This record gives sequence, C-alpha cells and structure tokens, in this order.
Amino acid sequence: MTTPNARRALDDIPVYKPGKPAESDDLKLSSNENPYPPLPGVMEKAAAELARVNRYPDAGTVDLYAALSRAFDLPPERFAASTGSVAVLFSLLTAFCEQGDEIVYAWRSFEAYPIAADLTGARTIRVPLRPDATHDVEAMAAAVTERTRVVLICTPNNPTGPVVTHEELEQFVAAVPDDVIVVVDEAYTEFVRQDDAANGLALAADHPNVVVLRTFSKAFGLAGLRVGYAIAATDVAMTIRKAIAPFAVTDVAQAAAVASLDASEALGERVEAIVAERIRVLAALRDQGWDVPDSQANFVWLPLGDDALDFAAACDPVAVRPFAGDGVRVSIGDPEVNDRFLAVAAEWRS
Ligand code: PMP
Repeated sequence: MTTPNARRALDDIPVYKPGKPAESDDLKLSSNENPYPPLPGVMEKAAAELARVNRYPDAGTVDLYAALSRAFDLPPERFAASTGSVAVLFSLLTAFCEQGDEIVYAWRSFEAYPIAADLTGARTIRVPLRPDATHDVEAMAAAVTERTRVVLICTPNNPTGPVVTHEELEQFVAAVPDDVIVVVDEAYTEFVRQDDAANGLALAADHPNVVVLRTFSKAFGLAGLRVGYAIAATDVAMTIRKAIAPFAVTDVAQAAAVASLDASEALGERVEAIVAERIRVLAALRDQGWDVPDSQANFVWLPLGDDALDFAAACDPVAVRPFAGDGVRVSIGDPEVNDRFLAVAAEWRS
C-alpha cells in the first residue's frame, strides 16, 4: 500500500515541544506566559464578540491595523497580523524563502525558528551564541552569503535572555545586503530595561529590509488568543499578508488586541512588577552562586548543561523548561512560585 508523501523538507523538522503543563496555571513557569489576567476591559470586549462567532471575522483586520497605526504613528499598510507572531514568521519565510536559499539565525534561540525555516526547504545556517549567551552578530554577518534571504535576530533572546545592542544591530544591518530581510523578533520588548538595547523600529524607519515582530502574547497577556504582527516596509508587509491564511485573526482576538492597546496605561504597572521580579530572581540566583546571563525578558536561563533534565525534574511540581544538554529556562511568575523555584535552585547548589 502506498501512502501520500510529504515534501522532503519535512523529514528532519523537529516537532515543537510546548512548555510542560503544570498541576495549576500558577505553577507553570515553562512557557514565558504572563501571570496576570488580560488588562482591564479586555475580556468584556472579547466576550461581546463571542456572541457573534457564527460570523466570519473581518478579513481585513481593519480595526487592529487602525489601532496599531495610531499606536505607532505609522500607516496601517506597514503592518501584517496573524495568529501570533510565530505565524507571521511562518508566512514571512514562506513568502521570501525557497529551496536553494539560506536562512541565518543564532543558536540556541527560539524553538520555532528551525520549524519555520526548515518548512520552506531553504538551508539553515545556525550561528552559535557567544559564551555569554548573546548573539554573535559579527559571526552572523560573516555567515551571510549571496543565497541568504532572511536573518532572524531574537532580542531579547529566547531562551537565554540577553539583548542585542543597538550599535550591534546597526552595524549588522549596515553589513548585510539591502535585499536580505533582517527579522528583529521583539516578542519580549516591553520587559527590556537596558539603555543600549536594539530598537528594531528605529532601524526599520531607514532600512526597508528590517522587519520587526511584536506580539500580544507576552506583556499584554493574550497568549491564548493568538495575535502577533510584523512592522515592515509597505511592500514587505503586503507580501507577508499575501501568505497569511484568510481570516487568521478572529474578531474575538482582534477586539481583545485593540482593547489591550487602549489599556496601555495599566500595562505599564504589570510589566514593572514582572521586571522587578526578574531583577529579584536574577539577584537571588547570583547570590546563590549561579552564573546566569543578564536576561531582559520575563524569564531567566540556567546554563546547566547535562544536568538540565534532572534540574527540571527537581523543580516539580513547578514546571520549568529544560533543553537537554544545554540549560533550563524559567519564566517569571507570581512571587511565591518564583520563591519555590529559587528554593530548588539554592538546594541544587548546596
Ligand atoms: N518570538 C519569540 C522569541 C518567542 O519566544 C515567542 C513565544 N514563545 C514568540 C515569538 C511567539 O509568540 P506568539 O505567541 O506571538 O506566536
């Protein structure tokens, strides 16, 4: 009996491993989720849309593009939205890359990159992070060839946490040809407090090949509703939109995202609380003797090498995210749960 053959590009594609489920949501420090509920007024706006889910959503995502246009003071045509920024990335790579092309990204970085990149059939070039877990931007620039179509830069980097500096990004963009798309994945941008951190938007203003990815999943706390977007030159944004499945953003998600932008004042307070916890957790780990990279996101990274899986098991019932042979990523949650993780970390070192 013969069975349908998938494209050969799929043979080696890793299956995305979601963060480990936990006994309760508050014990889940494995998916970089926001411990807080959606911002005030968001659930009411989303619930109102639930009453009309017998209708297809607004295919033009008009309200969200208008709200983003107001928020960033850029024309709506500069945005491309989909079911999370990861879906926007899949569409971007589908639109710009095919067999024979090359995609460059740092490693270790976001687990979805190998899946999204390999699906296109392009060759992927992984450039190892520096020993301090930062992007080796010079090595990445050196890895760009005439076949390179897209470079992915994750700042802050998931799962290690450090940012690329603005100067590094500026030099990188200056070094690569204008027809290479530089994706600056800023999923965690609201949590950044480092003054010299890369500002993808500022570079996108002068460089039409720079594409910034943003999401409502992290700081805005809408991970379950799936809304993310690219900010790009109009031509690039329109090309990405062509490769997005019709009706990707539901009206429920769109209403929640627009209401979240309207409630940005309340956002600041929550983000500050998470940043304060990150600073506290990093300091506590360093006091315990851990050598941890300087995370600017809502998670910390323990470079545990071969002990990663054992450490994750020791954290149970707190769910953390191990990467076998490499390290463990722990999201910032409620202070009491962070303390439970810190107690395990202290025990581990004693
Ligand atoms: N980029 C990075 C670096 C991430 O860590 C994540 C989420 N884990 C995403 C993008 C995807 O976010 P979204 O929920 O918008 O698809």
